[in-house]
Amino acid sequence: MILFKKAIDLRKWLDTQQGKGKTIGFVPTMGALHAGHVSLIDASEKQANLTVSSIFINPTQFNDRRDFEKYPVTLSKDIDMLEEAGCDVLFLPSVKEMYPDGITRDQSKTYDLEYLETILEGNYRPGHFQGVCQVVHRLLDIVRPHFLYLGQKDYQQCMVIKKLISLIGMEGSVELVVCPTLREADGLAMSSRNMRLNAEERKKAVSISKALYMIKYDIKEGNLEPLKQKAKVYLEENGFKVDYVGIADANDLSSVKVWDGKQKLVALIAAYLNEVRLIDNMILT
Ligand code: AMP
Repeated sequence: MILFKKAIDLRKWLDTQQGKGKTIGFVPTMGALHAGHVSLIDASEKQANLTVSSIFINPTQFNDRRDFEKYPVTLSKDIDMLEEAGCDVLFLPSVKEMYPDGITRDQSKTYDLEYLETILEGNYRPGHFQGVCQVVHRLLDIVRPHFLYLGQKDYQQCMVIKKLISLIGMEGSVELVVCPTLREADGLAMSSRNMRLNAEERKKAVSISKALYMIKYDIKEGNLEPLKQKAKVYLEENGFKVDYVGIADANDLSSVKVWDGKQKLVALIAAYLNEVRLIDNMILT
C-alpha cells in the first residue's frame, strides 16, 4: 500500500494510473477502522481497478468539541488493517493539507442541502452536514474517483453526499455505492465510537438494534406514533438518552406518521449512552 500525505503527490500518481485506464474506487474514513470499513474496501476491490482510502478526522463536521477530542485514534492498527484488506493507497492528509485557508467555514460556500439539513441528524447536529460536504467535496476534487463507497450505517449522510455530488456537478463522473451495515454478533452496528464504551455500556448498547428490530417486526398499517414511543421508552429503560426515534420514507427521509402498508420505510435512531452518541437505522419494509 502506498501512503500519501500531500494532495499534489496523490493527484500526480492518480493521473498516471488514470492515464493507463485504471478505474478508482474511494473509501473515505475517519480511522479507528473496523470490519464495517473493511467491507467497503472489499466492495471497491471487487468493482474498481485501484482502491484509495483516506483517514482524516474532519474537525469541521464535529458540532460537539468533546466528541472531536475523544474521537478514537488507532493509526498503526488502521494501516495494518488496510494493508491486510489489500487497499492500494492510503491518503493521510493534515488539517492544513485539507483546509489550506483554515478551518473556519466560508459562509459563501454553503451547500444547499434543503430539508436534509434540518431533519434528524441535521436537527440534532447543527452544521454537521455542511462540514461533511466541505471535506467530501475537497476529497472528491483530489481523488476524482469513479466509485465512491459509503455505509448505510450513516443513512442520512448517504443522501447528503448524493445531493452534494449533484450540487458540484459530478453526477456523470462518480457512482455512489451504498454498502450494508456490518453488525457485531449481538446486532450492535459496528462503529468507531463503540471503542469508547465501557463493558457495562457495551452490553446496553445492543438495545439500539433491538429497538429497530422491535419496530421492524411490530410495524403495521396506521398510526406509527405508539411504535416510536414504545421504542423510545425501551431505550430509556436501558439507560439511553434519546435524541430521536424516526420512521421515514426510505427514499427521501420525509417523516411518516401514518403508514399505508405500501410505502418503503426506514427507522432511524440516535441516542446517548452517557457521553457516547450512537446512531443506527434499519429498512423496515
Ligand atoms: P467513519 O469512519 O465512521 O466516518 O465511516 C467511514 C465510512 O464507513 C462511512 O461511509 C460509514 O457509513 C461507513 N461505516 C461505518 N460503520 C459501518 C458499518 N458498521 N458497516 C458498514 N459501513 C460502515
